[in-house]
Amino acid sequence: MIISMPFIVCTFIFTLMIAIIYFAKRHIDTIETKLYNYILVISIINIIIEFTLCMNILLDVPLFSFYNLLINKLFLVTLFTWFTLFTIYIICVSGTLEIKDKVLVRIILYYLVMVAFLVLLPLDLVDEDGVAYSTGIATYFLYGVCVVYSLIWLYIIYRSKKKLGKKIIPFFSFIICLAIMLVARALIPGLLLNSFSSAFATILMYFTIENPDIKMIEQLNIAREQAEKANAAKTDFLSNMSHEIRTPLNAIVGFSNLLLDDKDVPEKAKDEVRDIVMASDNLLEIVNGILDISKIEANKLEIVNNEYSTKKVIDELVALSKGRLGDKPIEFKTNFAPDLPPILYGDAGRIKQICVNILTNAIKYTKEGWIEFKISSVVKDNICRLIISVEDTGIGIKEGNIDKLFNKFERLDLDENVTIEGTGLGLAITKKLVDLMHGKIVVQSVFGRGSKFTVCLDQRIVKNPTIKVETEKHYEEVNVQNKKVLLVDDNKINLKVAERLLKTYGIDVECVDSGFACIDKIKAHEKYDLIMLDDMMPRMSGVETLKKLKEIPGFDMKVIALTANALTGMKEKYLNDGFDDYLAKPINKDELNKIVNRYLNSD
Ligand code: ADP
Repeated sequence: MIISMPFIVCTFIFTLMIAIIYFAKRHIDTIETKLYNYILVISIINIIIEFTLCMNILLDVPLFSFYNLLINKLFLVTLFTWFTLFTIYIICVSGTLEIKDKVLVRIILYYLVMVAFLVLLPLDLVDEDGVAYSTGIATYFLYGVCVVYSLIWLYIIYRSKKKLGKKIIPFFSFIICLAIMLVARALIPGLLLNSFSSAFATILMYFTIENPDIKMIEQLNIAREQAEKANAAKTDFLSNMSHEIRTPLNAIVGFSNLLLDDKDVPEKAKDEVRDIVMASDNLLEIVNGILDISKIEANKLEIVNNEYSTKKVIDELVALSKGRLGDKPIEFKTNFAPDLPPILYGDAGRIKQICVNILTNAIKYTKEGWIEFKISSVVKDNICRLIISVEDTGIGIKEGNIDKLFNKFERLDLDENVTIEGTGLGLAITKKLVDLMHGKIVVQSVFGRGSKFTVCLDQRIVKNPTIKVETEKHYEEVNVQNKKVLLVDDNKINLKVAERLLKTYGIDVECVDSGFACIDKIKAHEKYDLIMLDDMMPRMSGVETLKKLKEIPGFDMKVIALTANALTGMKEKYLNDGFDDYLAKPINKDELNKIVNRYLNSD
């Protein structure tokens, strides 16, 4: 028995240390953790009882005294308790069984019955040449239970090895340890290693599974995965919602534009139609804003760099701002450095979006005075640092509010601005875009006097541009004589809008309502100068239709994606899918003009 003492003392110290560390830390409250709490406590009790057993022998306590018998029985019960808890723990960790109230009641009943057996069954205590041990029915009964438990562990480990992963270590080690212990016990009968084996497994469980830090990280990972899934679902939902909103908007914007061009419509009615167009544009901007922010949050927004003409971008921004100023008594001043490089390499679309956001805000939050749109540059090697600023004499921003400006959905001084439309997304998107382009945005403002937003962006200078600066013609100048277009869309109203818009150019338009009908037309050797193909169609999408079209021998017609799927980056996706170009719904007249000019202009 003396030989067991060092093992018992060391095991006690280690287990106690682990217990102190474990209980001192905050841990997550799960059924496994609760079970581990009990396992730890029972381990310590087990060691103390085993220690007492050894001491009884060393102190020559009579073998068959009631006290010695009681300690031996207690030893069997705590061992059984430890083994049972360990088995339930493996079952829980492997996910084999979910421990609910009903199951718990059964387990407790089973436990009580087994303990009663252990207490009531006879126990023999033997002392052979100074080596004392217990035998008898109670001991054999416990051995039998342990064998059944071991088989259960092996079965669970085998079945759930993938799910258990690293968690298999303590369970496996314990089984090996038990085997070693049995062999050692057979060789040296006086060696008591029961509590050593169970404590060994308990300590290993702490390091591989139950360490609160590991558990926390595990829980955080699960929470992160769930959040990512929820975010992906949100992005999907928003993309679908965008499609759903854009489809009816396409009809509203399309028909309104047609009415504006209709000579028979009285001027008074046209005024109202203009308001419809403006309201639709606002709605579209809101949808786009929500889409952008969700894409940014899902880390799906990419910066797509291309060569672009600086002048063209600036001209478009000035035209758009002047249009938005309407009849407000505001002077729109511009100041563009004459030495700006003509062609730069960067994401022109996103730069425009940044400028539009701060220019629109300046217009929205200024009642009178002036707005200055200024662009200068600092050139170093082949990098041009664009310094874009928009200054206004508007309502200004309180100093304490400047930090909140870039928070999403944050609108400042709502009481005073209640009449100004906005979602509070513009600057949040702007900031994220500037960050994505490794730029900087700075705000200076005096409340009641005005604000100045300055954006710095580094763009590469293109010395030998591959693009030519396009000069788009107005549709009245485009020669589209004898041009034929095939429109493919499952939505009848969308077909009507696109058809009417194209007919204003004098283009011959044919409409079909599915990819199948489109393929039939091509197979019937019909010739078109351009095919405009909707993507989201039932049964066969536009992308699938295009794939099938390209399989038709000799097919070389230009195909444009005409779609309400307007998540940013979609243009690139459609070009990758093999489309020649992309036109978003609602159809913007200028964009349509560019497409007609590019693909149908005979000149
Ligand atoms: P919103 O859609 O409300 O305009 P933004 O994110 O673009 O959302 O702007 C957030 C808030 O910042 C606005 O609600 C407004 O209070 C304030 N703000 C932005 N630009 C200006 C400006 N030029 N002058 C005064 N306040 C501004």
